[in-house]
Amino acid sequence: MSDCIFCKIAAGEIPSATLYEDDDFRVILDLGPATRGHALILPKQHYANLYEIPDELAAKAIQTAKKVTTVMKDALPCDGYNIVQNNGEAAGQTVFHFHIHLIPRYRDDHAGVSWKPGTLTDEDRDAILEAGKSLRENS
Ligand code: 5GP
Ligand code: ZN
Repeated sequence: MSDCIFCKIAAGEIPSATLYEDDDFRVILDLGPATRGHALILPKQHYANLYEIPDELAAKAIQTAKKVTTVMKDALPCDGYNIVQNNGEAAGQTVFHFHIHLIPRYRDDHAGVSWKPGTLTDEDRDAILEAGKSLRENS
């Protein structure tokens, strides 16, 4: 994707603060960090979102998240980690090249990766389980 900023960063065409790199991924520091140490896992190949990325690469992305957070939780150090991955504008995705946010959390940081719990109604439960029935039929 010639006009994708994360393709250019992942390929090293645009400089970035690179925390880790291998054949498949570049892990960079976010320019607008939610907290100190906020990093992004970028695949070197372009996929817009989780729906498009191949299973094998998605699995490697999570392994990379595990590798980086396991080291950085002690190296920063931080008190916890949120792993966030946005798909679609409605979900807050602003760069349409798959990426995983690694957000270190510090006690009382008020970073706001949270939501107000609602209520699972009987009607919603039944409708949602019906909507997802193909998941159970094909498994
Ligand atoms: P999204 O909202 O798509 O899930 O996340 C995009 C993230 O990329 C944001 O946290 C934003 O701060 C970060 N970002 C956008 N452009 C750049 C850039 O050019 N360099 C870096 N390092 N981060 C970027
Ligand atoms: Zn891209």
